[in-house]
Amino acid sequence: MTVATAQAHPNIALVKYWGKADTAANLPATGSLSMTLDIFPTTTTVRTTDDHADRVVLNGVERDGTVRERVVRFLDHVRGLAGRDDRAEVVSWNTVPSAAGLASSASGFAALAQAASEAYGLHLDTRALSRLARRGSGSAARSIIPRFAVWHAGDDERSFAEPVEAPAIEMVIATVDAGEKAVSSREAMKRTALTSPFYPAWITSTAQTLESALEACRAGDLDRLGRITETNALRMHAVIQGSDPSIRYLTPVSWSIFDAVARLRAEGLRAWATADAGPNVCVICPPEDTAVVAERIGALAEVVVARPGPGSASREPAA
Ligand code: ATP
Repeated sequence: MTVATAQAHPNIALVKYWGKADTAANLPATGSLSMTLDIFPTTTTVRTTDDHADRVVLNGVERDGTVRERVVRFLDHVRGLAGRDDRAEVVSWNTVPSAAGLASSASGFAALAQAASEAYGLHLDTRALSRLARRGSGSAARSIIPRFAVWHAGDDERSFAEPVEAPAIEMVIATVDAGEKAVSSREAMKRTALTSPFYPAWITSTAQTLESALEACRAGDLDRLGRITETNALRMHAVIQGSDPSIRYLTPVSWSIFDAVARLRAEGLRAWATADAGPNVCVICPPEDTAVVAERIGALAEVVVARPGPGSASREPAA
């Protein structure tokens, strides 16, 4: 019996992942760029056992159904790599309040990848760990990496995330609606690829957008990176909306935040908005503008400030 504990944080994409090239291995149709947050860690302990079945306890509740199945499928992959077939108990705590409306699958599968690989005796370097986390949830590949990460498109060998330098930014996260979304990311991604006539253009343009974003990062050009971030998010929502039946994630309050961010820019501040597949809006800005941005956006929705955070890491098991 071996035990390992690990911690990982959520990430928010500046250039979005929306579309798979391969569903089984979770290979993305395009690369993406993200910031790993310094808030809302997930802590996961994996203990190998002599039991006949895996146990999954998430936030203090033993799970069955799809949450468990997703973890078991992931453990099966880890066992395949390790050449072992002993079962495990997985105990995981997310600290992201459900009210924050942030995706927990990225921090969840990054922490699980790190803890499970150690419990099963795999000695993986960062690249291999990122590839492994990708199998649990695509965006988890990026939560392995501290601060800013580029996740490459490519085959199984080449599709991993790695660190990238970026200009100094912080993120004001506005919770517009904490409720469960009507259409899951997985389902919406599938429907977009199958039915949105804009999908091919989204794929070709995002590949170019990522190149421009990486150039902006190399040049330390925050204004360019900010413009790219906001445009890329709006393009993603446009391609999703082009699905049949159409899917709309942004609500009038989300739009009011995009408008408020545009007004802040008109006043000379440097702030740009982005939104994942949901109504919540994240605003990036240089650290000196964070207080004003948080105050102004805070008038429209509940806000929390995040800074670039650590990658996944081993932890001492909780007592
Ligand atoms: P997807 O990866 O399908 O796009 P998402 O990131 O959009 O999902 P979330 O609501 O974050 O959507 O995903 C939540 C799912 O992630 C949960 O239903 C559960 O299956 C899984 N999950 C969340 N936290 C953990 C965790 N700590 N350990 C393992 N699995 C987790």
